[in-house]
Amino acid sequence: MELRLEGVSKTYPNGTRALQGVNLTIPRGMFGLLGPNGAGKSTLMRSIATLQDVDAGTMTFDGIDLRRDKDRLREVLGYLPQDFGVYPKVTAWDMLDHLAQLKGLAQRGPRHDTVKALLQKTNLWEHRDRRLGGFSGGMKQRFGIAQALLGNPKLLIVDEPTAGLDPAERFRFHNLLAEISTDVVVLLSTHIVSDVADLCQNMAILAQGNVVASGHPLKLVESL
Ligand code: ADP
Ligand code: ADP
Repeated sequence: MELRLEGVSKTYPNGTRALQGVNLTIPRGMFGLLGPNGAGKSTLMRSIATLQDVDAGTMTFDGIDLRRDKDRLREVLGYLPQDFGVYPKVTAWDMLDHLAQLKGLAQRGPRHDTVKALLQKTNLWEHRDRRLGGFSGGMKQRFGIAQALLGNPKLLIVDEPTAGLDPAERFRFHNLLAEISTDVVVLLSTHIVSDVADLCQNMAILAQGNVVASGHPLKLVESL
């Protein structure tokens, strides 16, 4: 089970070459995509999530051709976009329960068990009856992970999740991701070196749409 990208390129209509032949193999566990703003991280993640198409290249995950078989990919994908919005007046419980229904969890008993397990896993159980509008940045990101985990994804994509979190929130978020990543491919984008150094088994550095280095974080970060 791995995500493979070969020759992935994307030029926006205004001429910006956001991805220029990206080659990456991303195994099970935590993979960090490190790069400055504008490097192409979000473009790559939206492309993998099949929310936008690329101009060239192949992308496969666990036997699925992402560019041809979007429906199969969506079944195994969890995606947490950057700056995702929440309905401020809805409680965590009600929102997650509603999303679980949309995911096809029709039966009340098993659905409530799933929702409860996810809120516990993300340390939000005690806050289940609070409205999402009152959540801190860290709670909101953990709620986003709970949402993204609803369909038991095999591939989890998280785009700049720790931006704006304070150190304690970042620590809790790191622990949560580390726990999840044991049997899932997790792709995390960030511009914060310590996110990848603390958390990831493998990483790549993206600059101006090119992978300029990849490998084990401690070795790579030493060479920066
Ligand atoms: P990152 O996530 O690393 O900050 P992005 O993927 O958002 O990088 O952006 C890569 C490059 O593509 C940047 O130069 C950005 O301005 C440009 N870009 C991103 N989205 C669009 C778009 N929809 N139209 C035109 N240019 C875009
Ligand atoms: P409804 O489905 O009518 O909206 P619920 O019974 O789902 O109402 O939820 C009412 C409240 O009860 C929720 O806010 C939640 O905190 C709590 N609750 C519901 N189901 C469970 C459960 N399985 N375990 C613990 N608390 C629950």
